[in-house]
Amino acid sequence: MNSSDGTIDAPRVLAPYVRIGVQGETLYLGFGSLQQAVNDRTLWRPLVRLAAHFREPRTRAEALAFLRDACLVREPVAQALLLTLESGNCLVRAHAYDPADRYSRHALFYELSGTEAGRVQRRLTESRVLLLGCGGIGNLVAATLATAGVGELTLVDADHVELSNLTRQFLFTEADVGLPKAEVLARELRRRDSGCLVRPIVRSVHDTEDLRALPEADLVLVSADSPGITGLVNAHCVASGQAWLNACYVNDIAVWGPLVVPGETGCWDCRPLTAHPPVDDPELAELISGVNRHYQAPSNGPVNMLASSLAALDALRHLGGFGVPASRNRRMGVWTHDLALDRQSAERDPACTTCSDVRPSTPRLQGAR
Ligand SMILES: [Zn+2]
Repeated sequence: MNSSDGTIDAPRVLAPYVRIGVQGETLYLGFGSLQQAVNDRTLWRPLVRLAAHFREPRTRAEALAFLRDACLVREPVAQALLLTLESGNCLVRAHAYDPADRYSRHALFYELSGTEAGRVQRRLTESRVLLLGCGGIGNLVAATLATAGVGELTLVDADHVELSNLTRQFLFTEADVGLPKAEVLARELRRRDSGCLVRPIVRSVHDTEDLRALPEADLVLVSADSPGITGLVNAHCVASGQAWLNACYVNDIAVWGPLVVPGETGCWDCRPLTAHPPVDDPELAELISGVNRHYQAPSNGPVNMLASSLAALDALRHLGGFGVPASRNRRMGVWTHDLALDRQSAERDPACTTCSDVRPSTPRLQGAR
């Protein structure tokens, strides 16, 4: 027999992340964004019995027979109850959770997103990431990707560790002050996941030639604050068909995106995403530039952590092929003073001079969507 989506009716079990609880007049199955709310009290008992039935591997046909024969539920109601479990991604393949596997908790997260965990993990293992900037955001993004099982990480930064970095660049210690950031970060990542091939490159990136000298990647992640780096990386990545993602902060706003996938999404140049001095008033532009030359970023640990966490999650979604990256076609920001969410559209402009003639490339990663 086939299941509702036309695939083979393989045995499934109740996912380990499913809990059930009653609050007020509502029974909740599973908690989180996919939780199923059931208000009809007559359905509570058969639904909970069905969930318990799936503690052992069951096919869809076996579950429907159980509802019919043991719970005395009519066919349409039985179908609806089973659909309730399936809609919340409550059922997973019987072998989905292996607590001895180092990635087992992440595997549950991928299953919660409705994607087979083994497939996600294989894609991550095959992924190559180029990280430009190993500072506050780069530190945490790199640690998240390496420990999640990303296969290759190239770390690029010309800077050396300073004492004032330690408030947010948590993989560096006082003993590392004066050492190259890329090399210290590589050392720390290898200690956390020896399966990740980490390559430190101590150099700065000023122009397209610098970018061409770096290895190709499935995702270029920019967490460097050198002037003009976003436009430079965008042009290079769009031309070479590499996806890229920006992560930064704007004073107290944690910012990530847009995730640019050449030929599929908008690019950095499709829409104005940042402010500039006016081009039609040179005198005012010079005054503004004079003020801005004295800018010193108020970098803060929690704001860095927020931007790096959300950027790393979108990087994993893109590389692993689960869920939908929040920053796809959008530049996202969390205003940390009131937790407002800022969404700037970065949809594709068909007339964009940088990306209008780019076609989608064939995904390199196995099992691509
Ligand atoms: Zn564009």
